[in-house]
Amino acid sequence: MINNNLHDNKQAKVDNNLQIKNFSIEQIRADFPLLSRQVNNIPLIYLDSAASAQKPQVVIDSEMNFYRKYYAAVNRGIHTLGEKATEAMEHVRCQVADFIHAKTEQEIVFVKGATEGINLVANSYGDHFLNTGDSIIITEMEHHANIVPWQILAKKRGLIIKIWHLTTSGELDLNDLSKLIDHHTHLLAITHISNVLGTINPIHDIVMKAKALAKDLVVLVDGAQAVMHQQVDVQALDCDFYVFSGHKLYGPTGIGILYGKNKLLQMMPPWESGGSMIKTVSLTEETTFADAPVRFEAGSPNTAAIIGMGAAINYINQLGLTRIQHYEQSLMTYALKKLKQVPNFKLYGSEKNRAGVIAFNLGQHHSYDVGIFLDKYGIAIRTGQHCAIPLMKFYNVSTMCRVSLALYNTYEEINQLVTALQSIECLLN
Ligand code: PLP
Repeated sequence: MINNNLHDNKQAKVDNNLQIKNFSIEQIRADFPLLSRQVNNIPLIYLDSAASAQKPQVVIDSEMNFYRKYYAAVNRGIHTLGEKATEAMEHVRCQVADFIHAKTEQEIVFVKGATEGINLVANSYGDHFLNTGDSIIITEMEHHANIVPWQILAKKRGLIIKIWHLTTSGELDLNDLSKLIDHHTHLLAITHISNVLGTINPIHDIVMKAKALAKDLVVLVDGAQAVMHQQVDVQALDCDFYVFSGHKLYGPTGIGILYGKNKLLQMMPPWESGGSMIKTVSLTEETTFADAPVRFEAGSPNTAAIIGMGAAINYINQLGLTRIQHYEQSLMTYALKKLKQVPNFKLYGSEKNRAGVIAFNLGQHHSYDVGIFLDKYGIAIRTGQHCAIPLMKFYNVSTMCRVSLALYNTYEEINQLVTALQSIECLLN
């Protein structure tokens, strides 16, 4: 029923041809097995990749191959399988370093995800180097993962948390930094791209300005929503820490990356302890710790997920992030244009400097109602507070709907979304 009246495909096909050069969307979609399934007897339209992206077959295969062909514990025995598994894991460390242009693979720590990366920095760097009266700056657009660890640390260490508020257009004003930073300020924790508004923060300019105001200030960038949309160069950004999660990057769950400048990582004490992260252990003398990054990787790592993330990075590199970015940008411009035609569509955030994330509400309808209706049309979006309650407060709403775009979404899917939203608007009114 729905498919019949949801299509405006002729126009969409023309747009596809215009916009995508050397970027075969049909081929790309065929790489992702889950995209061919149906939901409620309708072909799935997956618009929730900012929550977690679907996986290409190469990622699924890479994990399966590991388990089938060379599975063994890493960093342990010297037998063939153990060596091969360790080699594969360390190869991914180098791949990640290349991917974000770190100086060396020693700057790459395997963690569970962006959340764990931030907790690691708070519990190791923060707990060791920040003292009573020092201040930390966070912004009003942070995900809870980049708020709560700092609040817990602040309570423990007697720190002050300063908030970088948004302007009325939902952006950060660089001029506000000079009002926030003083000689007590030691850390700025900021998202690269907002998971709700899609706003791309000018991290390079922010780091430059922040460090000009306080030479020793350390900047942590939450890149959970950035690495899949644009090329990230941590050296060019000159940030001190950068975190992201594998599962939003078309890779497996349970794996993420903390990048830290080598000089900082080597100074930091471990936060978790056990096997693998030591140099020597003695029952009578002090235990000594391995150098970073291994010092921060206590216990057995999630090797299969690490290998899967390597496959995801290969996949992205083959398509090329510049082309992905170009495609997603044109898709988003198209989506914004079309969505604005839906009656009572209220967009949040600035339209400038935005990655493929669109937060909105539809009149007075609760986002859950909209989400449930869309699910009936086979369309998956995110609804709720988006782990960003302070941002909901800023906009004076309890929840929002969020559409997030990925390299496998199409203009046809946007048309179907728009038609579905239009029919919801009619039905609910
Ligand atoms: N930061 C941002 C901006 C996010 O969007 C998310 C997840 O949605 C996170 C951090 C936390 O990521 P994870 O749950 O993978 O650790």
